[in-house]
Amino acid sequence: MVVVMVAGALPEQVEFVKERLVALGFQPHLIKGVSRIVIGAVGDRRTIDAATLENLPGVEKVIPIMKPYKLASREAKEADSVVQVGRVCIGGGSVTVMAGPCAVENREQLFKAARLVRQAGAAVLRGGAFKPRTSPYSFQGLAEKGLRLLAEAAAQTGLASVTEVIDQHSLEIAKDYVDILQIGARNMQNFHLLRAVGRAGKPVLLKRGPSATIEEWLMAAEYIMSEGNENVILCERGIRTFERLTRNTLDLSAVSLVKILSHLPVVVDPSHATGDRRLVEPMSKAALAAGADGLLIEVHPDPPKALCDGQQSLYPEQFAHLMQELKVIAAATGRTVNGSAPCKQNRSA
Ligand code: PEP
Ligand code: MN
Repeated sequence: MVVVMVAGALPEQVEFVKERLVALGFQPHLIKGVSRIVIGAVGDRRTIDAATLENLPGVEKVIPIMKPYKLASREAKEADSVVQVGRVCIGGGSVTVMAGPCAVENREQLFKAARLVRQAGAAVLRGGAFKPRTSPYSFQGLAEKGLRLLAEAAAQTGLASVTEVIDQHSLEIAKDYVDILQIGARNMQNFHLLRAVGRAGKPVLLKRGPSATIEEWLMAAEYIMSEGNENVILCERGIRTFERLTRNTLDLSAVSLVKILSHLPVVVDPSHATGDRRLVEPMSKAALAAGADGLLIEVHPDPPKALCDGQQSLYPEQFAHLMQELKVIAAATGRTVNGSAPCKQNRSA
């Protein structure tokens, strides 16, 4: 359930409600809006009577949440959440493009990629340092050396950064180097890892598992949020179907539906969804039209030489062209593509 405080509720009233919730066996989570505070209370609602809480000073109303995901639900928070990463805002009416190579390979490759994505108007630099590859013989990433390069390239270009963590060890290392921690599709139901990133104090980009239902995906977000981290960005990256001509099947209906079911920002990864650079532009446009708050796109300075996912990586000029096209689609949906300029905050409950 959520306890909605009156506008202008005093801090001590909020504290008192939180204490009461704890005493009643609930875990309170504060959700701050511009004008009011709501408290998400996770626990067994059958154990209390809503009136008990509604009579407390400063409480406006108590709303039960029927969905199994509570904190991630629109019922808990009506307004879109905005995840702020340095100067970049993800969600809340703008379009954010995160781009870069699948993997950090070397200094020259990464710095070239960082400069070109920045120049084309992206806001976040992606680059994997711990790669979860299907084959143990494939390039596994540069680990900490790659993270050092990623942090340096992001700082030099003024971009925020995102990288994947695959276990507790990589999380411990990566959290000091990057702005956003990515949970890859294969780890979407690694619940220990989800809890750990929930405690890491950094925004999390949570990919949908290749065979995960929408509800399972939202429950994975709930794991992260239940540890007190409300900065979760969902990422649709295609699901496994019977189709063999594309790497995965991009589920755009999931994007529109999740925007209804949840207040969290949703981005789309058309690169892993299709596995084919020819499909990245049309699927990126379709994703924005479906309501996605942004995109995660693989770009490489020289795709045929990529150590990982070259066939789905855009050439620099393709990416620059795509960014121009996206401005048109964003405008048609009443939005702008945010570069690395500071964003306008627009949080409300
Ligand atoms: C990636 O983004 O580099 C990646 C491995 O993606 P996914 O987890 O979606 O396969
Ligand atoms: Mn990749």
